[in-house]
Amino acid sequence: METTEAFTGLECHDCDRSYAPEAGTHRCADCGGILDPTYDYDAIDVTRESLADRPFDSLWRYAELLPFERDVAVSMDEGATPAVECETLADELGVGEVLIKDEGRNPTGTFKDRGASMAVTAAVAHGATDVVLPSAGNAGQAASAYAARAGLDAHVFLPSRSSFTTKAMVNVHGGDLTVSGGRIGDAGAAATDAMAEHDDWYSLSSFVTPYRHEGKKTMLYELVEQRDWQVPDAIVYPTGGGVGLVGMYKAAREWRELGLIDEIPAFYAAQASGCAPIVEAFDAGRDEHEPIENPDTICGGIEIPDPGASRWILDALRESGGGAVATDDHEILDAAVAVAQNEGLEMAPTCAAAASGAWALAERGEFDADDTVAIVNTGAGNKNADVLRSHLMGQGI
Ligand SMILES: *Cc1c(COP(=O)(O)O)cnc(C)c1O
Ligand SMILES: [Zn+2]
Repeated sequence: METTEAFTGLECHDCDRSYAPEAGTHRCADCGGILDPTYDYDAIDVTRESLADRPFDSLWRYAELLPFERDVAVSMDEGATPAVECETLADELGVGEVLIKDEGRNPTGTFKDRGASMAVTAAVAHGATDVVLPSAGNAGQAASAYAARAGLDAHVFLPSRSSFTTKAMVNVHGGDLTVSGGRIGDAGAAATDAMAEHDDWYSLSSFVTPYRHEGKKTMLYELVEQRDWQVPDAIVYPTGGGVGLVGMYKAAREWRELGLIDEIPAFYAAQASGCAPIVEAFDAGRDEHEPIENPDTICGGIEIPDPGASRWILDALRESGGGAVATDDHEILDAAVAVAQNEGLEMAPTCAAAASGAWALAERGEFDADDTVAIVNTGAGNKNADVLRSHLMGQGI
Protein backbone atom coordinates (compact mmCIF):
# COMPACT_ATOMS: atom_id res chain seq x y z
CA MET A 1 0.00 0.00 0.00
CA GLU A 2 1.39 3.36 -1.03
CA THR A 3 1.40 5.85 1.83
CA THR A 4 3.24 9.01 2.79
CA GLU A 5 6.60 8.77 4.51
CA ALA A 6 5.59 9.87 7.98
CA PHE A 7 2.29 8.00 8.14
CA THR A 8 2.83 5.18 10.62
CA GLY A 9 -0.59 3.56 10.74
CA LEU A 10 -3.63 3.80 12.96
CA GLU A 11 -4.14 3.86 16.70
CA CYS A 12 -7.28 3.02 18.63
CA HIS A 13 -8.55 6.09 20.43
CA ASP A 14 -9.87 3.90 23.25
CA CYS A 15 -7.35 1.10 23.90
CA ASP A 16 -4.24 2.48 22.12
CA ARG A 17 -3.71 -0.68 20.06
CA SER A 18 -1.98 0.17 16.80
CA TYR A 19 -2.48 -1.15 13.30
CA ALA A 20 -0.46 -1.10 10.08
CA PRO A 21 -2.01 0.98 7.28
CA GLU A 22 -3.09 -2.17 5.40
CA ALA A 23 -4.61 -3.80 8.49
CA GLY A 24 -6.47 -0.95 10.14
CA THR A 25 -9.22 -0.22 7.69
CA HIS A 26 -12.11 0.56 10.04
CA ARG A 27 -12.80 0.12 13.78
CA CYS A 28 -10.46 -1.45 16.35
CA ALA A 29 -10.62 -5.24 16.11
CA ASP A 30 -10.18 -5.57 19.89
CA CYS A 31 -12.53 -3.04 21.40
CA GLY A 32 -14.50 -1.52 18.52
CA GLY A 33 -12.94 1.88 19.24
CA ILE A 34 -12.33 4.63 16.71
CA LEU A 35 -9.02 4.43 14.86
CA ASP A 36 -6.94 7.53 14.30
CA PRO A 37 -4.17 7.94 11.72
CA THR A 38 -0.75 8.47 13.35
CA TYR A 39 2.50 9.98 12.10
CA ASP A 40 6.15 10.15 12.95
CA TYR A 41 6.23 13.91 13.43
CA ASP A 42 10.05 13.95 13.49
CA ALA A 43 9.97 12.75 9.88
CA ILE A 44 7.76 15.63 8.74
CA ASP A 45 9.70 18.51 7.30
CA VAL A 46 7.17 21.30 6.83
CA THR A 47 7.85 24.94 7.59
CA ARG A 48 5.80 28.11 7.27
CA GLU A 49 8.03 29.08 4.36
CA SER A 50 7.78 25.77 2.52
CA LEU A 51 4.00 25.93 2.76
CA ALA A 52 3.92 29.56 1.60
CA ASP A 53 5.77 28.50 -1.56
CA ARG A 54 2.97 26.17 -2.61
CA PRO A 55 -0.17 27.15 -4.46
CA PHE A 56 -3.25 27.34 -2.24
CA ASP A 57 -5.12 24.93 -4.49
CA SER A 58 -6.45 21.90 -2.59
CA LEU A 59 -6.24 20.14 0.75
CA TRP A 60 -3.64 17.85 -0.81
CA ARG A 61 -1.05 20.62 -0.49
CA TYR A 62 -0.64 19.26 3.07
CA ALA A 63 0.21 15.74 1.84
CA GLU A 64 3.12 15.27 4.29
CA LEU A 65 0.58 15.51 7.09
CA LEU A 66 -1.86 13.13 5.41
CA PRO A 67 -1.77 9.36 4.89
CA PHE A 68 -1.59 9.45 1.08
CA GLU A 69 0.39 11.23 -1.60
CA ARG A 70 -1.28 13.67 -3.88
CA ASP A 71 -0.63 11.60 -7.01
CA VAL A 72 -2.78 8.71 -5.75
CA ALA A 73 -5.49 10.95 -4.28
CA VAL A 74 -9.05 10.73 -5.53
CA SER A 75 -9.41 14.47 -5.74
CA MET A 76 -11.39 17.25 -7.38
CA ASP A 77 -9.29 20.00 -5.80
CA GLU A 78 -11.49 20.10 -2.71
CA GLY A 79 -10.52 22.37 0.15
CA ALA A 80 -8.52 25.59 -0.21
CA THR A 81 -11.74 27.45 0.55
CA PRO A 82 -11.70 31.14 1.44
CA ALA A 83 -12.03 32.55 4.96
CA VAL A 84 -14.16 35.59 4.27
CA GLU A 85 -13.98 38.61 6.59
CA CYS A 86 -17.39 39.69 7.86
CA GLU A 87 -17.25 43.20 9.30
CA THR A 88 -20.95 43.68 9.97
CA LEU A 89 -21.08 40.41 11.84
CA ALA A 90 -17.97 41.37 13.83
CA ASP A 91 -19.66 44.62 14.87
CA GLU A 92 -22.80 42.81 15.91
CA LEU A 93 -20.91 40.21 17.92
CA GLY A 94 -18.69 42.88 19.44
CA VAL A 95 -15.44 41.16 18.46
CA GLY A 96 -12.39 42.24 16.52
CA GLU A 97 -12.88 40.03 13.52
CA VAL A 98 -15.26 37.38 12.20
CA LEU A 99 -14.17 35.01 9.48
CA ILE A 100 -16.55 32.70 7.71
CA LYS A 101 -14.70 29.68 6.39
CA ASP A 102 -16.81 29.07 3.32
CA GLU A 103 -16.93 25.36 2.68
CA GLY A 104 -19.81 25.88 0.28
CA ARG A 105 -17.13 26.35 -2.41
CA ASN A 106 -16.29 22.65 -2.44
CA PRO A 107 -17.08 20.40 -5.45
CA THR A 108 -20.42 19.09 -4.14
CA GLY A 109 -21.11 22.16 -2.04
CA THR A 110 -20.07 21.01 1.42
CA PHE A 111 -17.00 20.16 3.49
CA LYS A 112 -18.06 16.51 3.26
CA ASP A 113 -15.89 16.52 0.12
CA ARG A 114 -12.75 16.73 2.26
CA GLY A 115 -13.68 13.57 4.11
CA ALA A 116 -14.89 11.83 0.98
CA SER A 117 -11.66 12.57 -0.89
CA MET A 118 -9.57 11.04 1.90
CA ALA A 119 -11.84 8.07 2.62
CA VAL A 120 -12.37 7.12 -1.02
CA THR A 121 -8.61 7.37 -1.57
CA ALA A 122 -8.23 4.91 1.33
CA ALA A 123 -10.94 2.65 -0.12
CA VAL A 124 -9.03 2.45 -3.40
CA ALA A 125 -5.76 1.78 -1.54
CA HIS A 126 -7.48 -1.07 0.32
CA GLY A 127 -8.76 -2.58 -2.93
CA ALA A 128 -12.46 -1.86 -2.41
CA THR A 129 -14.90 -2.14 -5.30
CA ASP A 130 -18.01 -0.97 -3.44
CA VAL A 131 -18.44 1.71 -0.79
CA VAL A 132 -21.41 2.14 1.52
CA LEU A 133 -22.68 4.69 4.02
CA PRO A 134 -25.77 6.07 5.69
CA SER A 135 -25.97 9.85 5.62
CA ALA A 136 -28.27 12.76 6.33
CA GLY A 137 -27.63 13.79 2.72
CA ASN A 138 -24.45 15.73 2.07
CA ALA A 139 -22.01 12.93 2.90
CA GLY A 140 -23.97 10.62 0.60
CA GLN A 141 -23.77 13.08 -2.26
CA ALA A 142 -20.04 13.62 -1.70
CA ALA A 143 -19.33 9.89 -1.44
CA SER A 144 -21.20 9.10 -4.65
CA ALA A 145 -19.29 11.85 -6.47
CA TYR A 146 -15.87 10.63 -5.32
CA ALA A 147 -16.79 6.97 -5.84
CA ALA A 148 -17.82 7.84 -9.41
CA ARG A 149 -14.49 9.51 -9.99
CA ALA A 150 -12.62 6.47 -8.65
CA GLY A 151 -14.75 3.97 -10.58
CA LEU A 152 -16.27 2.44 -7.43
CA ASP A 153 -19.92 1.57 -6.82
CA ALA A 154 -21.52 3.68 -4.08
CA HIS A 155 -24.41 2.39 -1.96
CA VAL A 156 -25.98 5.34 -0.21
CA PHE A 157 -28.68 5.16 2.48
CA LEU A 158 -30.56 8.38 3.13
CA PRO A 159 -33.58 9.14 5.30
CA SER A 160 -36.64 10.43 3.47
CA ARG A 161 -36.25 13.86 5.08
CA SER A 162 -32.87 14.51 3.46
CA SER A 163 -32.94 17.31 0.92
CA PHE A 164 -34.12 16.83 -2.65
CA THR A 165 -30.74 18.03 -3.97
CA THR A 166 -28.73 15.38 -2.16
CA LYS A 167 -31.05 12.54 -3.18
CA ALA A 168 -31.12 13.72 -6.76
CA MET A 169 -27.37 14.11 -7.02
CA VAL A 170 -26.67 10.61 -5.66
CA ASN A 171 -28.71 9.38 -8.63
CA VAL A 172 -26.94 11.71 -11.03
CA HIS A 173 -23.54 10.39 -9.91
CA GLY A 174 -24.76 6.86 -10.60
CA GLY A 175 -24.96 5.87 -6.93
CA ASP A 176 -27.24 3.10 -5.68
CA LEU A 177 -29.69 5.09 -3.53
CA THR A 178 -31.91 3.64 -0.83
CA VAL A 179 -34.31 6.01 0.89
CA SER A 180 -35.61 4.71 4.18
CA GLY A 181 -37.65 5.95 7.12
CA GLY A 182 -37.68 9.52 8.30
CA ARG A 183 -34.42 9.99 10.12
CA ILE A 184 -30.72 9.19 10.14
CA GLY A 185 -31.17 6.21 12.50
CA ASP A 186 -33.49 4.54 9.98
CA ALA A 187 -30.94 5.02 7.22
CA GLY A 188 -28.21 3.66 9.51
CA ALA A 189 -30.23 0.54 10.28
CA ALA A 190 -30.93 -0.06 6.59
CA ALA A 191 -27.22 0.32 5.78
CA THR A 192 -26.28 -2.12 8.54
CA ASP A 193 -28.76 -4.70 7.19
CA ALA A 194 -27.43 -4.33 3.67
CA MET A 195 -23.82 -4.64 4.82
CA ALA A 196 -24.64 -7.89 6.60
CA GLU A 197 -25.47 -9.31 3.17
CA HIS A 198 -22.47 -7.78 1.40
CA ASP A 199 -19.37 -8.29 3.48
CA ASP A 200 -17.14 -6.90 0.73
CA TRP A 201 -18.72 -3.43 0.91
CA TYR A 202 -16.26 -0.90 2.32
CA SER A 203 -17.82 1.43 4.86
CA LEU A 204 -17.43 5.19 4.52
CA SER A 205 -19.49 5.83 7.63
CA SER A 206 -18.04 8.62 9.79
CA PHE A 207 -15.64 7.33 12.47
CA VAL A 208 -16.16 3.80 11.11
CA THR A 209 -13.60 4.74 8.49
CA PRO A 210 -10.69 6.54 10.21
CA TYR A 211 -10.18 8.78 7.20
CA ARG A 212 -13.04 11.27 7.16
CA HIS A 213 -11.85 13.27 10.16
CA GLU A 214 -8.37 13.08 8.69
CA GLY A 215 -9.58 14.84 5.55
CA LYS A 216 -11.55 17.45 7.45
CA LYS A 217 -8.64 18.35 9.73
CA THR A 218 -7.15 20.38 6.87
CA MET A 219 -9.73 23.14 7.50
CA LEU A 220 -7.69 24.17 10.53
CA TYR A 221 -4.39 24.21 8.66
CA GLU A 222 -5.97 26.47 6.07
CA LEU A 223 -7.59 28.82 8.57
CA VAL A 224 -4.29 29.41 10.34
CA GLU A 225 -2.28 29.86 7.16
CA GLN A 226 -4.91 32.18 5.71
CA ARG A 227 -4.54 34.51 8.67
CA ASP A 228 -0.80 34.70 8.32
CA TRP A 229 -0.21 32.19 11.07
CA GLN A 230 -2.44 33.92 13.60
CA VAL A 231 -4.48 31.24 15.32
CA PRO A 232 -8.15 32.29 15.60
CA ASP A 233 -9.22 32.76 19.22
CA ALA A 234 -12.41 30.81 18.73
CA ILE A 235 -13.82 28.42 16.15
CA VAL A 236 -17.58 27.85 16.14
CA TYR A 237 -18.59 24.63 14.43
CA PRO A 238 -22.06 23.24 13.59
CA THR A 239 -21.73 19.89 15.31
CA GLY A 240 -23.43 16.65 14.44
CA GLY A 241 -21.07 13.69 14.65
CA GLY A 242 -18.22 16.09 15.37
CA VAL A 243 -16.01 14.73 12.59
CA GLY A 244 -14.73 18.13 11.55
CA LEU A 245 -14.36 19.35 15.11
CA VAL A 246 -12.14 16.52 16.31
CA GLY A 247 -10.27 16.68 13.02
CA MET A 248 -9.50 20.38 13.47
CA TYR A 249 -8.56 19.89 17.11
CA LYS A 250 -6.14 17.15 16.06
CA ALA A 251 -4.72 19.43 13.36
CA ALA A 252 -4.09 22.24 15.84
CA ARG A 253 -2.23 19.89 18.15
CA GLU A 254 -0.19 18.56 15.24
CA TRP A 255 0.94 22.03 14.24
CA ARG A 256 1.77 22.87 17.82
CA GLU A 257 3.80 19.66 18.04
CA LEU A 258 5.63 20.63 14.84
CA GLY A 259 6.35 24.08 16.28
CA LEU A 260 4.35 25.86 13.59
CA ILE A 261 1.96 27.45 16.11
CA ASP A 262 1.91 27.99 19.87
CA GLU A 263 -1.78 28.26 20.61
CA ILE A 264 -4.79 26.02 20.25
CA PRO A 265 -8.01 27.84 19.33
CA ALA A 266 -11.02 27.49 21.64
CA PHE A 267 -13.43 25.12 19.93
CA TYR A 268 -17.18 25.65 20.33
CA ALA A 269 -19.80 23.09 19.34
CA ALA A 270 -22.98 24.72 18.04
CA GLN A 271 -26.08 22.55 17.92
CA ALA A 272 -29.83 22.96 17.41
CA SER A 273 -31.91 22.83 20.62
CA GLY A 274 -34.00 20.04 19.11
CA CYS A 275 -30.97 17.75 19.06
CA ALA A 276 -28.15 18.90 21.32
CA PRO A 277 -26.59 15.84 23.00
CA ILE A 278 -23.13 17.43 23.10
CA VAL A 279 -24.36 20.69 24.62
CA GLU A 280 -26.33 18.77 27.26
CA ALA A 281 -23.31 16.63 28.19
CA PHE A 282 -21.00 19.66 28.25
CA ASP A 283 -23.33 21.66 30.48
CA ALA A 284 -23.85 18.70 32.82
CA GLY A 285 -20.10 18.14 33.10
CA ARG A 286 -20.38 14.62 31.70
CA ASP A 287 -17.63 12.88 29.69
CA GLU A 288 -20.07 11.31 27.30
CA HIS A 289 -23.44 12.17 25.75
CA GLU A 290 -26.79 10.58 26.45
CA PRO A 291 -28.72 9.77 23.26
CA ILE A 292 -31.62 12.08 22.43
CA GLU A 293 -34.90 10.14 22.35
CA ASN A 294 -36.88 12.35 19.99
CA PRO A 295 -34.57 14.54 17.94
CA ASP A 296 -36.29 17.26 15.99
CA THR A 297 -34.61 20.05 14.10
CA ILE A 298 -34.74 21.41 10.60
CA CYS A 299 -30.93 21.23 10.56
CA GLY A 300 -30.67 17.73 9.10
CA GLY A 301 -26.87 17.70 8.89
CA ILE A 302 -26.54 18.05 12.65
CA GLU A 303 -29.56 16.00 13.70
CA ILE A 304 -27.33 13.26 15.12
CA PRO A 305 -28.99 12.01 18.32
CA ASP A 306 -26.31 9.48 19.23
CA PRO A 307 -22.85 10.81 18.28
CA GLY A 308 -20.44 7.93 18.83
CA ALA A 309 -17.37 10.14 19.24
CA SER A 310 -18.84 12.32 21.99
CA ARG A 311 -15.98 11.64 24.43
CA TRP A 312 -13.50 12.90 21.90
CA ILE A 313 -15.63 15.95 21.05
CA LEU A 314 -16.12 16.85 24.72
CA ASP A 315 -12.38 16.47 25.38
CA ALA A 316 -11.65 18.83 22.50
CA LEU A 317 -14.10 21.44 23.82
CA ARG A 318 -12.79 21.29 27.38
CA GLU A 319 -9.07 20.95 26.66
CA SER A 320 -9.17 23.85 24.22
CA GLY A 321 -11.04 26.09 26.66
CA GLY A 322 -14.08 26.28 24.38
CA GLY A 323 -17.66 25.34 25.02
CA ALA A 324 -21.03 24.37 23.60
CA VAL A 325 -24.17 26.23 22.67
CA ALA A 326 -27.63 25.35 21.39
CA THR A 327 -30.12 27.66 19.70
CA ASP A 328 -33.65 27.16 18.38
CA ASP A 329 -34.49 26.45 14.74
CA HIS A 330 -36.15 29.82 14.20
CA GLU A 331 -33.07 31.65 15.52
CA ILE A 332 -30.88 29.51 13.27
CA LEU A 333 -32.94 30.32 10.18
CA ASP A 334 -32.95 34.00 11.18
CA ALA A 335 -29.15 33.84 11.38
CA ALA A 336 -28.90 32.32 7.88
CA VAL A 337 -31.05 35.14 6.51
CA ALA A 338 -29.15 37.81 8.44
CA VAL A 339 -25.81 36.59 7.09
CA ALA A 340 -27.20 36.41 3.56
CA GLN A 341 -28.60 39.96 3.84
CA ASN A 342 -25.66 41.61 5.60
CA GLU A 343 -22.65 39.75 4.30
CA GLY A 344 -23.93 38.17 1.10
CA LEU A 345 -22.70 34.73 2.10
CA GLU A 346 -25.06 31.79 1.76
CA MET A 347 -25.31 29.42 4.70
CA ALA A 348 -27.46 26.29 4.71
CA PRO A 349 -29.74 25.91 7.77
CA THR A 350 -27.46 23.31 9.37
CA CYS A 351 -24.46 25.61 9.00
CA ALA A 352 -26.31 28.65 10.28
CA ALA A 353 -26.43 26.90 13.65
CA ALA A 354 -22.81 28.04 13.92
CA ALA A 355 -23.67 31.67 13.14
CA SER A 356 -26.62 31.60 15.51
CA GLY A 357 -24.45 29.89 18.12
CA ALA A 358 -21.77 32.56 17.75
CA TRP A 359 -24.39 35.23 18.41
CA ALA A 360 -25.55 33.43 21.55
CA LEU A 361 -21.96 32.94 22.74
CA ALA A 362 -21.25 36.64 22.20
CA GLU A 363 -24.38 37.57 24.17
CA ARG A 364 -23.28 35.50 27.11
CA GLY A 365 -19.89 37.21 27.09
CA GLU A 366 -17.78 34.34 25.83
CA PHE A 367 -15.63 36.49 23.52
CA ASP A 368 -13.27 39.43 24.07
CA ALA A 369 -13.53 42.67 22.12
CA ASP A 370 -10.38 41.96 20.10
CA ASP A 371 -11.03 38.27 19.45
CA THR A 372 -11.00 36.68 16.04
CA VAL A 373 -13.92 34.30 15.75
CA ALA A 374 -14.03 31.81 12.88
CA ILE A 375 -17.41 30.39 11.92
CA VAL A 376 -17.35 27.29 9.77
CA ASN A 377 -19.94 27.49 7.00
CA THR A 378 -19.91 23.77 6.31
CA GLY A 379 -22.12 23.92 3.21
CA ALA A 380 -23.67 26.09 0.56
CA GLY A 381 -26.97 27.81 1.32
CA ASN A 382 -28.46 27.00 -2.04
CA LYS A 383 -28.47 23.28 -1.23
CA ASN A 384 -31.47 24.11 0.97
CA ALA A 385 -32.83 27.21 -0.72
CA ASP A 386 -36.36 25.85 -0.25
CA VAL A 387 -36.02 25.73 3.54
CA LEU A 388 -34.56 29.23 3.72
CA ARG A 389 -37.24 30.62 1.39
CA SER A 390 -40.05 29.04 3.41
CA HIS A 391 -38.70 30.68 6.53
CA LEU A 392 -39.38 34.04 4.87
CA MET A 393 -42.81 32.77 3.89
CA GLY A 394 -43.51 32.12 7.58
CA GLN A 395 -42.89 35.83 8.11
CA GLY A 396 -45.30 36.82 5.37
CA ILE A 397 -42.49 37.69 2.94
C1 LIG B 1 -22.40 16.63 8.11
C2 LIG B 1 -22.61 18.08 8.27
C3 LIG B 1 -22.34 18.73 9.49
C4 LIG B 1 -21.92 18.01 10.75
O1 LIG B 1 -20.63 17.50 10.61
P1 LIG B 1 -19.89 16.69 11.74
O2 LIG B 1 -18.47 16.89 11.46
O3 LIG B 1 -20.30 15.28 11.62
O4 LIG B 1 -20.30 17.23 13.06
C5 LIG B 1 -22.46 20.10 9.52
N1 LIG B 1 -22.84 20.81 8.43
C6 LIG B 1 -23.13 20.21 7.26
C7 LIG B 1 -23.57 21.05 6.11
C8 LIG B 1 -23.04 18.83 7.14
O5 LIG B 1 -23.31 18.26 5.96
ZN1 LIG C 1 -9.29 -0.54 20.71
